[in-house]
Amino acid sequence: DTIGANLARTVAAFPERDALVEQASGRRWTYEQFSDDVDAVALGLLELGVVKGDRVGIWSPNCAEWMLVQYATARIGAILVNINPAYRVHELEFVLNQAGIRTLVSATAFRTSDYAAMIREVRPKCAALRDVVLIGTPEWDALLGAGRAIDPATLTEIGRTLTADDPINIQYTSGTTGFPKGATLSHHNILNNGFFVGELCGYDEEDRVCVPVPFYHCFGMVMGNLASTSHGACIVIPAPVFDPKATLDAVAAERCTSLYGVPTMFIAVLNEPSLDDLDLSSLRTGIMAGSPCPVEVMKQVIERLGMSEVAICYGMTETSPVSTQTRAGDSLDRRVSTVGSVMPHLEVKVIDPETGVTVPRGTPGEFCTRGYSVMLGYWDEPERTAEVIDAARWMHTGDLAVMDGDGYVTITGRIKDMVIRGGENVYPREIEEFLYTHPDIVDAQVIGVPDEKYGEELMAWVRLREGVPGLTADGLRAFCDGRLAHFKIPRYVHVVDEFPMTITGKIRKVQMRAEAVDILG
Ligand code: ATP
Ligand code: MG
Repeated sequence: DTIGANLARTVAAFPERDALVEQASGRRWTYEQFSDDVDAVALGLLELGVVKGDRVGIWSPNCAEWMLVQYATARIGAILVNINPAYRVHELEFVLNQAGIRTLVSATAFRTSDYAAMIREVRPKCAALRDVVLIGTPEWDALLGAGRAIDPATLTEIGRTLTADDPINIQYTSGTTGFPKGATLSHHNILNNGFFVGELCGYDEEDRVCVPVPFYHCFGMVMGNLASTSHGACIVIPAPVFDPKATLDAVAAERCTSLYGVPTMFIAVLNEPSLDDLDLSSLRTGIMAGSPCPVEVMKQVIERLGMSEVAICYGMTETSPVSTQTRAGDSLDRRVSTVGSVMPHLEVKVIDPETGVTVPRGTPGEFCTRGYSVMLGYWDEPERTAEVIDAARWMHTGDLAVMDGDGYVTITGRIKDMVIRGGENVYPREIEEFLYTHPDIVDAQVIGVPDEKYGEELMAWVRLREGVPGLTADGLRAFCDGRLAHFKIPRYVHVVDEFPMTITGKIRKVQMRAEAVDILG
């Protein structure tokens, strides 16, 4: 199915049910109303001259209009380009030009982001950009008004020209290991993935899904929006950007059954003072993804939030995104120590990255996946696509994983982060986890730095507990001695206040490695 056809199916089945609630403004849409507005935006875009295959950028924190544009572009086969709301002029100009965006829909401003001013600044440098429509201004109303004046039958005609394999979305990777890449995704890629995520969460038209994670990322727009609309569930937007109090208020007020977040968001929600005063008994499930989850947090999410069926997902932008997910009945241990098992209708394997041969269960190797979820390719970058998708259509994720006898997968690190010291493969993640046990260390990141004798040497960057005067390399080595194999003990220590981060909150080891070379002279 195309996304438009799938939405039409839900609208026909549940016209009167809630599709979308925007908690901050109190605005709400039934499926019928939502579909009418999607059509108006779609027709309005047509009126601007947008045709199938054109790139339409969306640049805004979470709001109802974001979702309307998501479904409207899919309805006419335009390619939605998700632009990170935290971007500034440099990144905006890059995305507008790299994707050749023709029409940009944007918020006017939010907190310190003056989107309109930034667009004015880069506009002369973006040749493809024809129209800018600012949400909440007369331009937006005009877009809807123009759309409502056109016969909706036009959309039926256009629907016939679309196929599920057409590209309809470009999403940029987080840029953790290098420059962000634009993953080009089809209806088939993301609709199927959203559908199966919803299926494993047990969604139906009774569910109300609270989405405090950004829509610009696949977590929001696929695992949130598409998972919900493909099952007739309702999306609840608690606030434009994550806010723990607004999130809890929305769950209580809208009787949400599901709640999403990365682990740090759940930690913030659990620390919110109003938590114990609210009735959260409607919560049943949810998704935690993006990075490993501490066991204590998982326990509290289940006990204090009542999310007994909460799932962990693993995936990447290039795979629509989810490849593995835990199941509702999985033990607490499985939901903390693994990222679940393969999604329905996908293939996965763990290979020796050197030889390409599948390794035995229990042996670490590169995680690969194949099936409907694998992207069409990186936008306008066939060489980089060929580096990650092989001739048999396997996506090589660059993630190191171990699969157990039952098919449950544990992510152990990234190949690009692996350090080869004197011929020994060292996985930084293992050392980092050990360093967390040091009483003075609150956060630790380990990288490889060039070394004449061993090829690479290990360097630990650490954040220390407040008031701790410092930590020397000798001090750290003494702590590791006898508890870690000698080749895993970091030679250098660098104390920092914070790590270089991507906008999506991931640590940029590429940048750490570059800085380390300077530090070590
Ligand atoms: P780039 O590809 O630009 O370097 P990125 O890989 O961080 O950035 P994303 O596609 O947003 O960009 O993130 C996917 C990656 O996130 C995965 O390849 C994996 O390394 C990590 N990841 C995702 N989910 C989990 C999880 N549940 N546990 C551990 N790591 C995860
Ligand atoms: Mg990646």
